[in-house]
Parts: sequence; C-alpha cells; structure tokens
Amino acid sequence: MSESPPNASASVLVVDDDPGARLLIGSALEIAGFRVYTAADGTSAMSEFAAHPADCVVLDVVMPGMNGFDVCRALRELPCSRHVPILMQTSLDDMESVQRAYNAGATDFSSKGINPMLLAERVKFLVRAKQTQDQLRESEARVRYLAYYDPLTGLPNRQRLLQILEQQVEWATPRKRGLAVLMLDVDNFSRINDTQGQAVGDSLLKEISHRLQLCLRDTQRTLSDDGALNDINDWVARTGGDEFALALPGISTTEGVQVVAQRVQVALARPFVFAEQEIPLSAAIGVSLFPGDASTAQALIKNADAAMHHGKKAGHSRVEFFNKSISTRAAKHLSMEADLRKALERGDFTLNYQPRLAINDMRVEAVEALLRWHHPQRGFVSPDEFIPLAEQSGLIVEVGDWVLREACAQARRWRDSGVHGWQVAVNVSGVQFRDGSLVGRVSRAIDAAGIEPRMIELEFTEGALIEYSAVVSKAVKALKELGVATALDDFGTGYSSLSYLRHFPIDTLKIDRVFVRDIVSKSGINTPLVDAIIAMAKSLGLSTVAEGVETEAQWHYLKSRQATQVQGFLFCRPLPIVELERWYADWLHSHQQSSVA
Ligand code: C2E
Ligand code: CA
Ligand code: CA
Repeated sequence: MSESPPNASASVLVVDDDPGARLLIGSALEIAGFRVYTAADGTSAMSEFAAHPADCVVLDVVMPGMNGFDVCRALRELPCSRHVPILMQTSLDDMESVQRAYNAGATDFSSKGINPMLLAERVKFLVRAKQTQDQLRESEARVRYLAYYDPLTGLPNRQRLLQILEQQVEWATPRKRGLAVLMLDVDNFSRINDTQGQAVGDSLLKEISHRLQLCLRDTQRTLSDDGALNDINDWVARTGGDEFALALPGISTTEGVQVVAQRVQVALARPFVFAEQEIPLSAAIGVSLFPGDASTAQALIKNADAAMHHGKKAGHSRVEFFNKSISTRAAKHLSMEADLRKALERGDFTLNYQPRLAINDMRVEAVEALLRWHHPQRGFVSPDEFIPLAEQSGLIVEVGDWVLREACAQARRWRDSGVHGWQVAVNVSGVQFRDGSLVGRVSRAIDAAGIEPRMIELEFTEGALIEYSAVVSKAVKALKELGVATALDDFGTGYSSLSYLRHFPIDTLKIDRVFVRDIVSKSGINTPLVDAIIAMAKSLGLSTVAEGVETEAQWHYLKSRQATQVQGFLFCRPLPIVELERWYADWLHSHQQSSVA
C-alpha cells in the first residue's frame, strides 16, 4: 500500500457523465484516503464545488452541456478555486486537446483509460504539491505582512508609512493640497516597560494605537473626491518602539495640525489603567508640512522626526513644528554622530582629571575623570554637546567602557607611582545602566587594572536613578557589593526625595554648582539651599562634594557648613595628566608653605 494522503481531510471532486467511471475513480480515491464528491455534469460540478471546495478536481472532457474545458475555465474564475489542481481526463490524447486543457487552466491531464489506482497516485502528488505551495504562499504573505506592518498593533510600520506618504504626496501635488506628518514619541515609555514589565508595555502600546486611531478624522467624507483611494485616508503608523506617526492628507496649516495634536494629547492624558494602576501618558509631537517643509515622503518623515527630537529636549508633551534651524542642527548632529563612531578607533578621546579636595586639610582625595573629545575638524567639542548624542545613539555604552578602563588604568599608575592614592571618579550615564552590562564592565575594568574596587567611584545623576529605577537600583546594589564607591551627581537638579534616596546605597552627594553659585549672590540674608542639602546628607550618613567652587567666599562658607569635599576652578580646572601632576607639585609646595606659615 502506498503512503497516506498528504492531508487526512483532503477531498476530491470527480466530474464525469459516465456513472461507471465515477464509481471506479471514486473508490480508488477513497481507498487512497480521500473524501470524494461527485458530479455528473458541468453545472452540478460548479454547485458541488461551491458547497464543498475540494483540494483537487478530476474532470472529464467530453460531457453533455458544459464540456470539461468550460468547467475548468469557470472554476478558474472563482477566487477559491484559483489554485486548486485540476486533472483533466481525456480519451482524445491528441496534442490539440492537451493544449486546450492547459489553456483552460488545467494543472495536468491523463488519458481516460488509465488504471484508477495510478490515477489516485497522480492526484495524491498534485494535492501534496498544492499544499506545499499553499504553505509557501502563506509564509510569503506573512513575510510581506511583517515587512510592512507591526505585528503587535497591526499598524503600518515605517516602511509602509513611507509608501502611504508617497501616495499622499502624489495625490496632493496636482490638487495643490497640503499634507501633515506628525511624529510622536511617548514620554518615559522605557521606564514603564522596565518597572511594569513588558506585558504591560505591550498592552499599553496597543491601547495607545487604539486611541490614536480614534483621533483621526473621518476622511472618507473630507476627501470624498478620492475616498476610494485607500492610502489617501488618515493613517496611524508605528514607526519604532514607542514612536508613532500620523499622516494627515489635506491638512496644510498649523491651526489644522493643532486641532489634531490637541486631540491626541487629550486622548493620551486620560490615564491608562492596568492591574488597578493608573498610568498617565504624554508624548512629544513633531510636525512637518507638505509642501512647505519638505516635498518627498522621506524628507517629511525626517523633518517631523527632527522636530520631535528638538521638542523632546525642550520639554515634555510639546507640539514642535519643523523649521530650517532644526534641520541644520539635526544635520550637524547626524554628522557628529557619525564622527563619534569613528572617534573611539581613532583615539580622539582623552580624559582630563579635576581634583576634589578635603575641605578640612585641602588634601587631594579624589579626582574626577572628565571626557574630552578632540574632533579632527571642529577641535574640542564640549561634553555637554556630544554626551547627549552618544546617549541617544547608544554609543555611550562603548565610550563609557573606554572611560572606565582608562580611568582604572590611570588609578593604577598613580598608585604605582607611590605618591598619590587618589580615588578616581567616573561619570556614568543612565543609558549605561539600562544597557545591563555596566556591573560586568566595571568589574572587568577593575580586574584588568589590578586595583582595589574602592579606588573607583561611580557618579550618576538623579535622572539616571529615576528614569530607569528598577534596573538602576539592582545595578547600584551590585556595584556596592563589588566594593566601588557611589556618588549622586548634580544633586538638587532632579526630583529625588529624601525617602527615594534611601533605596539606593549611595556614599556621596555631589551638590550641583547652581547651589554653590547661590551662596554669595543671595547676599547672606536668605539661608542658601546648600545648607539644607548638607544637613540632609548628614542625616543620611552621606558625605558631600560641593561642585563648581569658584570664589574664596563660597569656599569659606562651605567650610563653615562642613561640606566634606570641594571641587572647582578656584582650586584647579580639569587637566590632562601631565599638567595635573605639575599643578599638584605646585599645590603641595604652596600648601605646605601656607600651612607652615
Ligand atoms: P559633571 O559631571 O557635573 O562634571 C563637572 C563639570 O563642571 C565639568 O564640565 C567641569 O569642567 C565643570 N566644572 C568644574 N569646576 C567648575 C567651576 O568651578 N565652575 C564651572 N562653571 N564649571 C566647573 P565638563 O567637563 O564640560 O563636563 C560636562 C558634563 O559632561 C559633566 O558634568 C558630565 O555630566 C558629562 N561628562 C563628562 N565626562 C563624562 C563621561 O566620561 N561620561 C559621562 N557619562 N558623562 C561625562
Ligand atoms: Ca560628575
Ligand atoms: Ca556634576
């Protein structure tokens, strides 16, 4: 016995006006495992197929009424039987009828006298081939779907958005109509994902996509002249993890955009409720308008993106319209980002070190490593300019790793020189925490340099703590166990509350220089905020470093308030190693003299 049919439920329709032939072929097919339906003429074949769409049709050519060729053609017209194999049975084995069979859409033919068991084998082969093809078609459709749609929300992805916009530009141009593209970035989405888990994140994205769709206009009405052209409708697309886009054909003014943007913001502000928790959301929105801001789909997306990022930097939940200066800045950023990638290989980075002095005896206790980038064309670029870029692009992970290894190696050199046992403080960005590799990288850098973990202090900002709290608090604990010291940088500029800080094992608060600057300008009447910060740090058992000390008055005040350390231009700017060592020699010299005096 031959192998079983390709699919247990596969069925065959046998169409023949000869009852004997129907019986013979039908039984052979049943023995082979097929379900069999029969029809005695073309018309009943069509209704039989409509009632039980078969996986294969065995079709006699010569029949009264509709002949086999007609039936074959009629079946091929139906969408559901377009791909069904049709085996034509002909007693006329001349070339002409074979040609006619193929022209009518037949898959295969055999001559009428053929052994029914052999015929059944042939059918099996055809059905199996069809099933393979069906699977192929299905996976092709799936691949096509994934290439153009986001499986989570079912929305068009960036690629599909591009096609839609191309259609819309084509539609708008001859009609002298406008077109607005809104790019939308959900604020703090990664934090929600980290703290609430990915399942909540996914539901949130689906709900956002749903709400955004409700914000669209009923375009069939507004654009009734081409209502049938699907791509000319309003569209929502998901263009990235927490990024969405709205394509609004027919909108040409900022007022028109504002109406929709406001609707979007109201829709997002309504709290999302998951597991009895309310999650309020906001989003930064960037807008570009056709044809004023850009004339191609690609450029519209790019400019709306640039406007969105620009707005994001300026503050949350804003609507930012594209303008030329944004594009110039964005272009500069792009080229800087490309240069940043090369900078590591080319060795364009160096570290400067700025001393931190104990306020009591003015001994140098630590130095802060500060990254410097010497750009081959632009010269020195300020870290305030390139660090945010490195963070946005994720490059900070590699760059930060270089800083760590370099700082550890330098700590070792100073220890070996026998003169200075300085602790080296390294700045760490929130993105490095989020990456998840930080603890391992720190530990490897320390091992490679062969130093005590305590010789390294990591400085991170309140922003890093708050934005990625779950990941960060785990990492900070792990770092603590490793034995490195930890400091909270720029303290006072973020939002940490006292109780919040208790969750993190931190050794030191670095008081931001805005509070230090305040000390003297407040002309001594109001108690400077720095007092409160120092008192609070003491109550938590933390030491304090006052940053940005520039005047003697600030220094003396801080001394009177018993800050632990001071750092600032008054004592020393951040310097390359050689210059720092020269400064230190001078410092020691004058300091010893002054303490003698
Ligand atoms: P920061 O961590 O707050 O570093 C202190 C900044 O204050 C340094 O700026 C330093 O030069 C400056 N400064 C020190 N004393 C004074 C003073 O008396 N007056 C004034 N006005 N400024 C003073 P710098 O080197 O330009 O660094 C800026 C920021 O870039 C740093 O702020 C830090 O957030 C970031 N950064 C620098 N290096 C790195 C790094 O390796 N990794 C990361 N993630 N960030 C870094
Ligand atoms: Ca710092
Ligand atoms: Ca700082």
